[in-house]
Amino acid sequence: MTKQFPQNPPSDTQKLGEFELIRDIFMKRAEQMMRAKPQHAPLLSIGDDGAVVACHPNEELVITTDMLVADRHFFVDTDPYLVGKKSLAVNLSDLAAMGAKPTGFTLALALPKQKQAWLHGFANGLFDLADLFDCHLIGGDTCQGPLTISITAFGVVPNGQAIKRSGAQVGDSIWVSGALGDARLALGCIRKEWSLDLGAEELNQINQRLHSPLPRVALGIALREIATAALDVSDGLLGDLRHILEASHVSAKINLDALPRSTVLRRQDQAIQYQCVASGGDDYELCFTANPDQHDTITSLSKELGLPLTCIGQIIEAQDESLLILEDGDGIPLSLEKSQALLRSFDHFRD
Ligand code: ADP
Ligand code: MG
Repeated sequence: MTKQFPQNPPSDTQKLGEFELIRDIFMKRAEQMMRAKPQHAPLLSIGDDGAVVACHPNEELVITTDMLVADRHFFVDTDPYLVGKKSLAVNLSDLAAMGAKPTGFTLALALPKQKQAWLHGFANGLFDLADLFDCHLIGGDTCQGPLTISITAFGVVPNGQAIKRSGAQVGDSIWVSGALGDARLALGCIRKEWSLDLGAEELNQINQRLHSPLPRVALGIALREIATAALDVSDGLLGDLRHILEASHVSAKINLDALPRSTVLRRQDQAIQYQCVASGGDDYELCFTANPDQHDTITSLSKELGLPLTCIGQIIEAQDESLLILEDGDGIPLSLEKSQALLRSFDHFRD
């Protein structure tokens, strides 16, 4: 019988070799989950040269990769449990945007030196999220190097139902899930970009949004038959929305005051609010477009999921001068300068 995952991880003086590490930390946990959820398990998992996964004739496979690099995507001293959870969450968020149901993932891990306590914490976070979404670890690679986590996740959609970025139509409403900007507000506090008068509970709330995003998988699946286009908001809403507009050859008018934000963010200066909500990033909400006749269906879906869904603007004919027109709540367009500042989303090679 396979040993249970140890409650108290061994000390870092007990070094494991590469293969013991894979077996003790990842393979045993993956096998436990396969026994608990055999209906979603791969045919052949960790331990061979490749995994074997059954393909259903009525389904298509959606594949996505996201990488987390220490000191680039997370601070090295972040709780490893949260790093494990987030590294899978950002991938499942991409699957959600495509309307896919997660089924499995592979994990490529570079570790500077072996720290078992770190690895056990990381694996706990990773498997807690994997378990929540019935998503199996089916393989990977492990080597020594600067701390880097690269996950490739797999999901399925019924044939022809993947939601693409290219389907937005003139006249569609633009929607966004949840609330935006809290993760950016938390990052700004950590980096001391601003000093805010926040209570412990408020700080906890925004830190949670930064470190522990929850992918909107149920929403993505429900949107297969509703949305004309979708993506997940990872680099900042407006910059990300541009990808839909470019792929669909349309423009958009956005009401900045309609962008959903938490009460914590609403208490901050308007400049900080706009910056966080419009171009903050790390939100992992879904932004999607839908025909206006879907309004009632989307309102009911929001109630059913217990997740706010907010209409933030409309798709309009492609404009020569500007892809995105930003207005305030009174319909007054923002100055060009202010618009341009907000339209910049995160870019690894520019920022
Ligand atoms: P190979 O030499 O064929 O690349 P490895 O010896 O690297 O295979 O890995 C042995 C097995 O362990 C493979 O099935 C591989 O998918 C799996 N594996 C390696 N690293 C990880 C990891 N971090 N998480 C899950 N599975 C892993
Ligand atoms: Mg290998």
